[in-house]
Formats: sequence, structure tokens, C-alpha cells
Amino acid sequence: MIKGLLIYNAHLVDESMDTAGAILIIDGKIRFVFQGYFTSGKTAEQMARIILKEDGFDENFPLELFNANNLIVTPAFIDMHVHLRYPGQTQKEDLESGLKAAAAGGYGTVVAMPNTNPVVSSVEMAMQIEREAAALGLTQLFQTVSLTKDFNGTDVSHLDFLDNKYIPVISEDGRDVASSSVMLQAMKKAADNNVIVSCHCEDAFLSVDAKGHRQIALDMMKKLELTSWGTSSKYDCDDNCPSEFDILNDELCKADFLLEKAEDLMTERNLELAKMADCKVHIAHVSSKGALEAIKKAKAEIKQFNEAHDLVSATTTYYDFLNDEKAESFEKYSRNYNVTCEVTPHHIGLAGDEAPFNRALVNPPLKDRNTRYELIKAVQDGIIDVISTDHAPHTLEDKKMGLRASLV
Ligand SMILES: [Zn+2]
Repeated sequence: MIKGLLIYNAHLVDESMDTAGAILIIDGKIRFVFQGYFTSGKTAEQMARIILKEDGFDENFPLELFNANNLIVTPAFIDMHVHLRYPGQTQKEDLESGLKAAAAGGYGTVVAMPNTNPVVSSVEMAMQIEREAAALGLTQLFQTVSLTKDFNGTDVSHLDFLDNKYIPVISEDGRDVASSSVMLQAMKKAADNNVIVSCHCEDAFLSVDAKGHRQIALDMMKKLELTSWGTSSKYDCDDNCPSEFDILNDELCKADFLLEKAEDLMTERNLELAKMADCKVHIAHVSSKGALEAIKKAKAEIKQFNEAHDLVSATTTYYDFLNDEKAESFEKYSRNYNVTCEVTPHHIGLAGDEAPFNRALVNPPLKDRNTRYELIKAVQDGIIDVISTDHAPHTLEDKKMGLRASLV
């Protein structure tokens, strides 16, 4: 039986509105959006009944009323970056708990990374996971496929038959593809199939050096009996701090610096390779000023290119295509290369140089307050396209074991 639902006394927010209002839903689909203050259910119902009458429903049509009490009603969010730990690490999370968390957070779609056990390295496996997720009837899941087979860093043969309807994004997240040549091959295949490459930009070699420093710091943190946040209940650092704190802070600084440079370098490389491959890239968890600058530059260049393309198309007629020179010029200005990027809530919400987060370890590391403001400004300016969570649960045991230097 067809039923109706009227959500009234709501605060409606989407890209086109930020206003008080009510929503009439018939048979699970939005039929009408009323703007204005509908604090009384009776008034809201009278408005809704006019629409229902137009649709041929009589006054007995079952209409449920829901008072939103001025809470915000928005379209569901999309998370471009989650780790659901399925398959293989379900002690951390499984599809059901991950998608329940997503639905509870207001997410209608999530994109899951492939660093599972085994690694998701085939279209068949990704589609099987998507089918299992769909059967749960919670949030929609898009499963990414790895850029290299089983993260082996060399083989991209599995990328020949991607279908962007089911696999719109591929990624090596958790690591980068160290070889530029292999990355270029993967991007070319992605471009051929019109699939977006989500890049975890991190120079693998600098990152090994950084993890060495982090390991020394972690050992020191254990010795000093610090919490998993790196805070201490035993020592008041304003006075009588043991000298180990200096060493600890110094090691963390060295690690952070190397990881920042690892991000800068590979963001620039991946953008350059994407341009060569004429591929669409999405830069994951942007956290450094250098990465942000590289993205700004790439986006400005793309904008300039698109404007030139529009000009050429506006002045090109069908007959011009018979003219080789004009056709060639149009061809020159047609390309697929595009750049989008994301920032995480923790990189815009927390600063690594402010207590109590000075020693909190995440990858990429938290940056200083100034960089944090730049990231927020980039969201405001539209340089950063989306906020993604990088939701990546671990068990408490893993964290207690001090494995954080290598956890992704
Ligand atoms: Zn990542």
C-alpha cells in the first residue's frame, strides 16, 4: 500500500538551500519540498494534503507526520575514503558494522579501499563485496580495486577490464606505487576505462626512514608510559621532564618532516603522471602545504585549458572538422585529465603542534596550526572538493602492542 511521510519543522540544507521547511515523501520518494516555517504539524499537513489531492489521493490517504524539531535534514553524505577491513581483518571491522556506522553517520555512499586480506585485486572480488554490501540494505558501497596486483608494485594486468559503473575508483591506498613507470601504466589503463585513480601520495623510501624514527619514538613512549595519545599522567612536562622527552619529540619531528616531504614529492609526481596518462585523479588525505600548492597549480592549469577548449568549441563548426588544422586544434584541447582532492576531518580539526595532539600519530601526520588553517581555507575556496574520513579502525590490542608506526 502506498504511504506518505511528512517531515516538518525541519532545517533543510543542500547545495541550493539553507532554510526552514518540510518534505513530503510518497512511496519512498520526495514529492515536494516546502520552504518556510512549518512548526505546527497541522499547518504542514494542510499544505501536504493540497499536493496529495493534486496527485489524486483523497483525504484518507495515510500520511505519517514526523516533527524534526528544527534538526538539519540534508541529502546523505558521500565518503570517498574508508577502510572496512573486509575481507580478512574482521576483528577490526566487518561489512555490517562498517556500513551501520556509515548509515548512522548520515552517509549514503562510501568508497572502500582495497588494503584488505587478501588485497582486492580483481573486478570479480570487488563486485562480490559490493553485492554482499547491497544485500545488507544499508549504505551503498563502491569497492576500489588495487592499482597493482596484490600490491606487488609491478603488475597492472588486472586493470584491463574495469567497468566504471561498478568500479568508479581504483587505489593503492595505504601506500603509493613506488615506480613511476608502473603508476603511469595503471593511470593509462584507468583513463582507457574512464575510472578515477585515488592517490595515496607518499614516497615509499622516505616513509621507511620516517617509520624508523617513529619506531624509536614509540619505544620511548612505552618506556615513559604515555597514553596512546602520547600524553602523560605521570610527568608534568612544564617542569621536571626527563630528557627522554626531548629525544622523543626530536624523533617525532624528524618523522613528520620526512613524511611531509614524502607527501609533497609524490603529490607532484602523481599529478604529472596523471597529465601524461590523460587520467582523472583524486588526491587522498591532502595534509601538507606543498601538496596543496601542487593541486592549486594543477587545477589552475586545467581551468585555463578548459576555457581554451570552450573557446575552440564555440568557434568550431561541423564544417571546420573538414579542415585539418581546426580539427587538430580541437583535438589538442580535448582531454580527460582532471584533478579532485580530499581532506580528512582530523587534518582540518586538529593541529599537531597543539596539546594534547603533539604526539598523536596518524598517517599523514597532523600538521601545525598554520597549515590547518590553510587546509580550511582551501575547503572554503573550493580547492579541496570533499571531506573524507579515512575511517580506518584498529583493535585496542593492535594499538597497545605499539604497532602504530606501521598501521594504515
Ligand atoms: Zn591513504
